[in-house]
Amino acid sequence: MSSKWLFPSDIDELVGLLERDNPLVHGGGTGIPRGRVRSSKVVVDLGRMGWDRCYEDGKDILLGATCSFSRTVEELSRIRPGHVLVSALSQAASTPLRNRITLGGSVAFFPLWSDLMGPLLALGASVDLVGTVSGRYPIEHFVSNRGLFRGSVIRAIVVPDLPMDGWYYREVRVGFDYPGFTMTLLAQRDGDVLADFRGVCVGTKERFKIFNDISESLKGIRYGDVDVNAVAEKLKLDFPDKKSGSGEYFGQVAKVWFERGLAGLLER
Ligand SMILES: Cc1cc2nc3c(=O)[nH]c(=O)nc-3n(C[C@H](O)[C@H](O)[C@H](O)COP(=O)(O)OP(=O)(O)OC[C@H]3O[C@@H](n4cnc5c(N)ncnc54)[C@H](O)[C@@H]3O)c2cc1C
Repeated sequence: MSSKWLFPSDIDELVGLLERDNPLVHGGGTGIPRGRVRSSKVVVDLGRMGWDRCYEDGKDILLGATCSFSRTVEELSRIRPGHVLVSALSQAASTPLRNRITLGGSVAFFPLWSDLMGPLLALGASVDLVGTVSGRYPIEHFVSNRGLFRGSVIRAIVVPDLPMDGWYYREVRVGFDYPGFTMTLLAQRDGDVLADFRGVCVGTKERFKIFNDISESLKGIRYGDVDVNAVAEKLKLDFPDKKSGSGEYFGQVAKVWFERGLAGLLER
């Protein structure tokens, strides 16, 4: 069966297609197997929707869903140099892939090796949807309840513009490997006090883990009083066995990198 490819350029046209044709939505196409394209009657490519810009509105940073990883790095480096997403996305995959992989497709697909999802979950981002369900929803809710959002397309990702220092690590043997896990840590300083701390590990048995307990225990503590080793000891992460190492191995390695990341953030 040959598929019909459509390239809508406005919201009404796109929503009409979503409601009528139950199409396969195409972002960068790097996560869609060829067989799935062949078996779909209608493929809707989002490339003409004009969702390929990043901008700030005074409160949030809005990232268009069809921005490639490369474009996001380029635009965010201009708006917020040193942003944790710049560090994460500039290391993902290879250059040709970074030129194709889109933000919307990466949130919708959420592979275990995602370099995007850790920073977005740590920052408390939301998705802006159009289609059957429209409006803004916290990204944690979106990825944990995918069935509720069938028939909707991600138009943008809304990232709170927080004054936080970020640290990002991907566990790989060589740079272009799929990471065994990724870790994102964020810290906000208020004088000599740790006003806010967030952490997320992606690649665990439950797919991702947000370090809520550790965040609560660190808030309001003086920087000099944080016992980094003791905090790292509290970190309990369950990983599945992977080709690149056992679950137990990843649990130990993750602890080491958490400790290094936290120490690095506290020294800034
Ligand atoms: C060899 C290889 C290495 C990779 N390495 C990494 C890596 O190190 N780090 C990393 O982060 N990623 C990596 N990736 C990318 C990752 O595995 C996925 O392929 C990618 O995240 C999918 O994004 P896409 O834009 O290509 O989505 P697509 O392939 O276009 O779509 C993926 C899914 O999302 C849906 N979709 C697409 N856009 C939207 C939208 N706007 N709203 C709702 N649904 C949508 C599609 O219908 C489909 O179900 C790698 C990919 C490859 C092939």
